[in-house]
Amino acid sequence: MKTLIVHAHPEPRSLNSALKDLAVETLTRAGHEVRVSDLYAMHWKPVVDAADYGPHASSPLRVAADSGRAFEAGALTEDVRAEQEKLLWADTVIFQFPLWWYAMPAILKGWVDRVFTYRFAYGVGEHSDTKYGERYGEGTLAGKRALLSVTVGGPEPHYAARGINGPIDDLLFPIHHGILFYPGIEPVSPFVLYGTDRLTEEEFPDVAKAWRERLLMLESTEPIPFRRQNFGDYAIPSLQLREGLEPAGRSGFGLHVR
Ligand code: FAD
Repeated sequence: MKTLIVHAHPEPRSLNSALKDLAVETLTRAGHEVRVSDLYAMHWKPVVDAADYGPHASSPLRVAADSGRAFEAGALTEDVRAEQEKLLWADTVIFQFPLWWYAMPAILKGWVDRVFTYRFAYGVGEHSDTKYGERYGEGTLAGKRALLSVTVGGPEPHYAARGINGPIDDLLFPIHHGILFYPGIEPVSPFVLYGTDRLTEEEFPDVAKAWRERLLMLESTEPIPFRRQNFGDYAIPSLQLREGLEPAGRSGFGLHVR
């Protein structure tokens, strides 16, 4: 595998950083190529602004259109071009982050906002009677896979089907489906560690073992079977799931999993 690890934690001695280091070591030892984007260490700029698009920035700023023109002209900033190049190089992307306010840390969302530009990650492909652009299973990053490695403060029952925080699959759906599957990346089931604020150093070896095992299985892990957009499950252009395709008792985000 050619694996890009996108890491988002400010503390090099944190649990998240230990999991990132373990992933580098485990995958490298197993003969895989690994590159790391350590966003805090890189002082990643997380905000989109006119400076991102140089002479292609319009006034008023049009983020989608301007980013697309700058992308097509090869004129995005060097930091963004480097991340796009890493994504094109990788066949597998691991995102390592703590769950903060039900979501990824802002620096990682800012990486997505700036790197997933128009014409690169969205606004790709033809629009016709049978295609609504290339997205949700197609697109620039199709054929690549991703794994979210997420540490969570709350205990597992709080994230179960009836748990007060909502099911973890629902909380991660915006990332799995809206950010990754949209430009074509197929996510596999996430590696989620619960109750991490109470994790003791004595418990860490078990966590490390589970993470190593998961990493070594990654190459052969099937992705989450999200429905692809342009392959008959959705009417075009309404993009509603066709009648009768919903499995009994399933609603909400679960409708979009085959
Ligand atoms: P650390 O604090 O670095 O480590 C946790 C424990 O792991 C340590 O106490 C230590 O005993 C052990 N450990 C760490 N590294 C090692 C090592 N190398 N070897 C052995 N043991 C080690 N939680 C939720 O459930 N939902 C939320 O919405 C949510 N929002 C949050 C918002 C913010 C702004 C913050 C700060 C926290 C939030 N949390 C939430 C909690 C958060 O998810 C956890 O604090 C986080 O996942 C823990 O990861 P960490 O890397 O920061 O852990």
